[in-house]
Amino acid sequence: MNASALDRRALLGLSAASLGTLALSSQTTRATYRPGRTTAAAHLQATLAEPLALPALNYPTYALEPHIDELTMQIHHDKHHQAYIDNLAMLVADHPEIAGLDPFEILLDFSLVPEAIRQSVRNNLGGHLNHSFFWKLMTPQSLDKSDQLTAAVNDAFGSTEKMQAAVSEAGLKRFGSGWTWLVWTGAKLDVISTPNQDNPIMDRTGVPVLGIDVWEHAYYLKYQNRRADYLSAWWNVCDWYAVSQIFADVLSNGVPDA
Ligand code: MN
Repeated sequence: MNASALDRRALLGLSAASLGTLALSSQTTRATYRPGRTTAAAHLQATLAEPLALPALNYPTYALEPHIDELTMQIHHDKHHQAYIDNLAMLVADHPEIAGLDPFEILLDFSLVPEAIRQSVRNNLGGHLNHSFFWKLMTPQSLDKSDQLTAAVNDAFGSTEKMQAAVSEAGLKRFGSGWTWLVWTGAKLDVISTPNQDNPIMDRTGVPVLGIDVWEHAYYLKYQNRRADYLSAWWNVCDWYAVSQIFADVLSNGVPDA
């Protein structure tokens, strides 16, 4: 390791303890794996037998105007997210053999689920996970990023503006429905786009620190076909305080086993 790498590590605030956690997590087996759960799946219950709940928003549905309009927030949260929850509950009711499974373990290994319902579980469990995360990333009154997150962003992208441009570009290039993510790979921040309701933890490409929904249902009422305008506007409601907390949590919890 050269001096500049050491300097960067110091800038990132990566303590020996947090690095130890990351190293340890890469040695754990899937059966005992837990790192990252609090960040990646904070809203998931212990097993699918427990009732799924639609998480309440921390702000009124009109609070993100004019960037994200009230009707979009109402339909997106109350209808679309609820539909993922309802669909998942129906799948569990029809397939009681999956009720005892830990949803986080399923996200890491879909072969735990019968093949006939694997894609449906992936879509709806992913939808529940992703939207629960997404609501927490927005606020009408954002605070500044932590020094820790700012340093990591600058280290990976050069500046916050360049990071935002990279996340937005990946969202713009996503053909059809999906998400664009800022992820922690275990070594650095990176940008990933996923299709449908997939999440980067499903294939261990990283743990989300921030994600933007680029399904048309997230923006079409106000922006119609102008996804670029929606992505540009979204940064006005990004909750940097929440994202900073998530990043600190990701660093301390580690990333899923490869
Ligand atoms: Mn959505």
